[in-house]
Amino acid sequence: MLVSGLPNNFDFSNSVLEWYHKYGRKNLPWQTDNPYHVWVSEVMLQQTQVVKVIDYFNRFIQQFPSLKALASAQEQQVLAMWSGLGYYNRARYLHRAANICCDRFSGVLPSELNDLMGLPGIGRSTAGAIMSLAYNKPVSILDGNVKRFFSRCFTVNGSPNQGSTLKKLWVLADRYISDQQPKQYNQALMDIGSMVCTRRQPKCDVCPVQSVCFAYKKDVVNQYPQPRKSVTKKNMQLSISLTIHNNKIYLIQRDSAGIWPELWFLPAFECTDRPADMVVQHILTHRNLLLEVYIVNYENMKESSYGCWINIDNLKNYPHPVALNKILRNYEDRELH
Ligand code: SF4
Repeated sequence: MLVSGLPNNFDFSNSVLEWYHKYGRKNLPWQTDNPYHVWVSEVMLQQTQVVKVIDYFNRFIQQFPSLKALASAQEQQVLAMWSGLGYYNRARYLHRAANICCDRFSGVLPSELNDLMGLPGIGRSTAGAIMSLAYNKPVSILDGNVKRFFSRCFTVNGSPNQGSTLKKLWVLADRYISDQQPKQYNQALMDIGSMVCTRRQPKCDVCPVQSVCFAYKKDVVNQYPQPRKSVTKKNMQLSISLTIHNNKIYLIQRDSAGIWPELWFLPAFECTDRPADMVVQHILTHRNLLLEVYIVNYENMKESSYGCWINIDNLKNYPHPVALNKILRNYEDRELH
């Protein structure tokens, strides 16, 4: 056996389902039978918490009410709706996948697991979520919260994203999936992972599987999931010019290589001897970024063919990294003091 089993008299799936019917989330805006809604929400939720996703999801669906509407949009429009959510490749893949659905699946999201997993940006867990939440098929899921829940409940050793540990977690996910209520069961797992078996201070007292949880019984909850070997982030320094005039900001669209591909940001240049006017730290997944900001007067600003003046109130229409908002906030604070 790959992982420890539970007592025979404990019905894991049923306990999870009972909890869901009493306490689970049932009124999220994407909890409809529309597979397109489920898909968009699942992609947004891949790296972002439910509370933050709700607003983004509603705006996105208002702008692109159907898969076909999304496919016909320009990529830049899609990225603009994603501004602030980060991990922009999610939006690029969503857009590309919508076009593939139009070309190959008559404009609808396929309902076969393998077809879904063949689309850009849809991995096994996202495909499982679509199959279960939209089509009520008993296909398991394993998002970050569910990995944590299973890792603790069954004291699965190793980092959840490592090959052999991941395999064990999928075995558990497959073993307990409910055939009768896969939609509710998977939603319950996600809810328990994000509301009860939380990363910090899990609420074991109200957990439906507390009586069988190995981590709880052994008093080792805070040792699971086990961390992966730490990867040292690279430091990166970027000198950038901030030019604001008449409520307009001068931005360039970055090229498709390097950080923030094709997003709108401040022009970068080689370091000068002059000290920066502002220094802003920003953390990316693999890098610690030090942004040295030089405030440049309009008069001195050279026009460039690849940049343009954008009204700050219209910035939301130009996909840009969160770091730009941070810089603007620092700039406003600086101007006020
Ligand atoms: Fe997580 Fe605590 Fe429940 Fe165990 S008892 S699964 S650690 S919330």
